[in-house]
Amino acid sequence: MTPRNAKVEGPVWTRKDLLGIEGLAREEIELILDTAPQFVAVSQRESRIKKVPLLQGRLVVNWFHEPSTRTRTSFELAAKRLSADTLSMAAGSSTSESKGETLHDTLANIEAMHTDIIVIRHKCAGAPHMLAGRHKSHIINAGDGRHEHPTQALLDAFTMREHIRRLRQDPAATLDGVNVTLVGDIEHSRVARSNIHCLRALGAKVTLCGPRTLIPMDVARLGVRITHDLRDALEGADVVYALRIQLERQGAGLFPSLREYIRLFRIDSASLAHAPADALVMHPGPINRDVELSTEVADGARSVILEQVSNGVAIRMAVMHLLANSGR
Ligand code: ASP
Repeated sequence: MTPRNAKVEGPVWTRKDLLGIEGLAREEIELILDTAPQFVAVSQRESRIKKVPLLQGRLVVNWFHEPSTRTRTSFELAAKRLSADTLSMAAGSSTSESKGETLHDTLANIEAMHTDIIVIRHKCAGAPHMLAGRHKSHIINAGDGRHEHPTQALLDAFTMREHIRRLRQDPAATLDGVNVTLVGDIEHSRVARSNIHCLRALGAKVTLCGPRTLIPMDVARLGVRITHDLRDALEGADVVYALRIQLERQGAGLFPSLREYIRLFRIDSASLAHAPADALVMHPGPINRDVELSTEVADGARSVILEQVSNGVAIRMAVMHLLANSGR
């Protein structure tokens, strides 16, 4: 029995950085998900200022070496809603990188201006991990090559959990046993990799579906079901998650033609008819409309794609708050 005046401690965040979902304990993932609702409420304030002072006086630097629309603006907005100062650092030809400066040296110079959090996206898998070991700022991986995109998986899990809770009218419902089907280019997708780790840690059942050439050979060891038949993949799915074909990361000839891919794997009204009527449709964006997802489904009643985007701000606020205010 707990003594009456004993302080009941909840889980606490102990990591300096957020580099990936792989290796995070269920409790750590749930701590982030459970920290987010207070920040959803901040963003939804109508009559008051959409800000809290949790990162006042701290400096958050966005350092994106690959294109981004949602993730970059979402991190910037999240930092601003926590009252941090923000800096968007250019990458590539307009910076000293083009003069041969290493990532380490660039970051050491930026850190000399007293940064607190560095949000980095890089085309090389492992770049954030390499920096995290040598620099004292908190490093957040905003996507490293085809490896991981942890905040995307967290906002996805949060969005799924909110819907399951509403659907089951159970505010404590978890993702245990929820069927999630990921469809498309699994091989080149950091979103898929982070989602698989996140969903498995939270007890969901994950099915992967796509052409054989776009499913990694060894992925079954992560405890997922694999099928190449879209109808089979969609039957019984609570969530249908379409992935973008990552043409920028693919070599040529991974499937016979786009037309063939669309015929076999596109999520549209016809294929979605095989999923339960209340299945959610999700996509990380940007969408190749009418390739992996038809327009009527992307904009239809089952789609929660824009909710994913809204929730992304709250999840990133939660991550930055936990990293910067947990005493490490
Ligand atoms: N925006 C996501 C990413 O950066 C998904 C995508 O680009 O397909 O990985």
